[in-house]
Amino acid sequence: MGIALILFFIFGTIIGSFLNVLIFRLPQEESINGRSYCRSCNHKLDIGDLVPVFSFLVLKGRCRYCQERVSWQYVVVEVITGLLFAMAYYMVFKSFVDLPFALSGLAGMGWLQIVIFLRTIFIISVLVVVFTIDLKHFLILDRVLYPATAILFLLNLLVDLIPNPSWSGLSLTVMGLLSGLGVFLFFGSIYYFSKGRWLGFGDVKFSWFLGLAVPFPLIFVNIFSAFMVGAVVGTILLIMKTRKLTSKIAFGTFLSITCVATIFFGDQILNWYLHLIGIST
Ligand SMILES: [Zn+2]
Repeated sequence: MGIALILFFIFGTIIGSFLNVLIFRLPQEESINGRSYCRSCNHKLDIGDLVPVFSFLVLKGRCRYCQERVSWQYVVVEVITGLLFAMAYYMVFKSFVDLPFALSGLAGMGWLQIVIFLRTIFIISVLVVVFTIDLKHFLILDRVLYPATAILFLLNLLVDLIPNPSWSGLSLTVMGLLSGLGVFLFFGSIYYFSKGRWLGFGDVKFSWFLGLAVPFPLIFVNIFSAFMVGAVVGTILLIMKTRKLTSKIAFGTFLSITCVATIFFGDQILNWYLHLIGIST
């Protein structure tokens, strides 16, 4: 178990370094093909400069060629993706803890487990990209959202097509679509009535991905938590006077971060919310 966790952490950092390329290049409409290069001196990077986390530590966070400081984003995204992949492995393949709905009842089921694991790390990767780009640019890109939503729909369908005694028919596919539609209508009306001041149209389009990722009832945990975290962070920023009341906050960052939390701890958070309003189980 320990070795596997380390291996999936390393695998996560490798995927994370690819996600960094997407995060830097997609908003600039750069091609995602082509060798990596230093963003200050444009020197092409060698394989030795590209080892996730390790290169950053060995080169003390500086470019080997121009000595310019390299963005912290590289190493943070790599480490976070590594940790989330290791957690996903732990949750899907070992049922030490109560598995959330999307992962439940899977211990020892071979193919189904593998597809669920791939689906989970796919969702995590997309959320890392959406979070970071939205944080930096206040944007959720169609170029990320459209393919990601289509692929997630197909992964849900694939999960449903593998025989599984713990749910029947097309439940993940159908529940995912209905949940996406629900959030789409909800966000769409907020967007319409607030004239785009409370959330952006990117968030409205993001609703389909979230619904497919954490279908009912967990989608409530995702959306409600995002509003809570958003309100708390917004208030703190306002008190610290780093923001004006009118300035916008990237809501997609809160939706992404709470979606990750929902994937791992959705059932526990849902029970906690139900307990708070007195419908405890
Ligand atoms: Zn350089």
